[in-house]
Amino acid sequence: MQSAHQDGDPLRTGQDDRQPAMLEWLAEQDKTYLRRRRLGDGPEKNAIDFVRELLKELDAGHSDADKKALVAHAVKNRTEIPAVLLVVAGWVSLRLKRWSDTKMLARELVGRDHHDLLAQRLIDAAEEKSADLETETDRWLKTRMCNAPFREMESRTTGQVHFCCSAWQPVPIGRLDAPKPDGFWNSERAREIRRSVLDGDFTHCSRWHCPSIAGRRLPERATGTPAPALRAEKGPQRVILSHDRSCNISCPSCRTGLISLPHKETTKLNDIFEEHLLPIVRNARHIKVTGSGDPFGSRHFRHILQRLTRTKSPTRRIQLHTNGLLLNERAWTDLNLRDNVSSVWISIDAAEPETYSVLRRGGDFDTLVKNLRFLGDLNTRGEIDTLRLDFVVQQANYLQMPAFVDLAREVGADGVYFLRLRNWGHVAAEVFRNQDVCSPDHAEHDRLLNVLSDDRFVSDAVELGSMSRLVSQARQSVGRR
Ligand code: SF4
Repeated sequence: MQSAHQDGDPLRTGQDDRQPAMLEWLAEQDKTYLRRRRLGDGPEKNAIDFVRELLKELDAGHSDADKKALVAHAVKNRTEIPAVLLVVAGWVSLRLKRWSDTKMLARELVGRDHHDLLAQRLIDAAEEKSADLETETDRWLKTRMCNAPFREMESRTTGQVHFCCSAWQPVPIGRLDAPKPDGFWNSERAREIRRSVLDGDFTHCSRWHCPSIAGRRLPERATGTPAPALRAEKGPQRVILSHDRSCNISCPSCRTGLISLPHKETTKLNDIFEEHLLPIVRNARHIKVTGSGDPFGSRHFRHILQRLTRTKSPTRRIQLHTNGLLLNERAWTDLNLRDNVSSVWISIDAAEPETYSVLRRGGDFDTLVKNLRFLGDLNTRGEIDTLRLDFVVQQANYLQMPAFVDLAREVGADGVYFLRLRNWGHVAAEVFRNQDVCSPDHAEHDRLLNVLSDDRFVSDAVELGSMSRLVSQARQSVGRR
């Protein structure tokens, strides 16, 4: 067995007892760090402030040499150490202006879990060589406002409720079955998130994954009008239903096998919907189904669609987010969707049948294209307001991005939406690293940049979301704007 003094690790080989003790102490903070990423110890206790406190303690009790040894240890053992050690060492190296160490450590954590907002911010700060963590995006956010926490909510399969997609904002505001009707809508965490938006720090929002931030789409902060109250009197105007993962296919970017909720569980969810969600949904103007599976591949969501379309509302509209394979003319008629649907977003991720059959395991490209043409006709006739095709960029499909823009035009869609691959925790970090071509560490990243410099991506019909920055970078590198 290799002795501690032989393994070349500057912390373990230290003669000073304080160094291994520092490592042990930091590792013990991991559970608290993970809890605070979701405000699990209360609304004022967030993960970033927690790491700041740890850095203060490190500063008080350890020399610069100790801290450099900590960074070297973390870099060397990055695939094995806990999250808190990665962010502490990443932040220490940021302050020491060791940009590549910061990026390496933080990328390891992002590869394991895309919910880590501090790791994302460390990478951005290192890219901009900002030792105090503040980036151009942070300065921009101070001038912006977001209305989502005052108007929107999303139900999750865990029974928790968020304001936005949990990849954009990982902090849940409460549980669906909270005892009081507004138990989650005006909870302490809900009010803290609203505070962070009103104060312009956007602490709980992902600079990478929120399309309104990444695409620079947030409106300017209004001056001269009173800010909305932290306690929202009106309920959500837009409700996203993402509490059933059932789907007719199993995409490797999302799950390892087919998920279909049994009848008994479906009945239970139907009851929860009636008791807790229907009163909220009734007053909302937009209902999106779904961010968790497929509206037509889930018995529960089909039940909800029938329930919603049975009672017409002049103001309420359904937004469908689907793989599109079961959304054909028959489903449109059977579920009485006409005049009830405003927009349809189709998750596809490929422009060629072979790639499609891999990334949409169980899906058939010909069926998809047939259904896209049906939807394209509805769109052309004005029966729906928007038809959008979605594409998660990854190693297997990035070469097809320009052809995907062409496919959307050909079937009569309004446009396409590109987004970065995220690790939802279902694949090992190593597997994710191989797929994540958007990471500068990926062997094919330069080829991706080459693809992204294509003029087809500069169009109102192309939403770049979390890909915006990479496209700008790609175009600058070839002298295009
Ligand atoms: S900025 Fe993005 S993540 Fe934050 S509240 Fe708004 S929509 Fe949600």
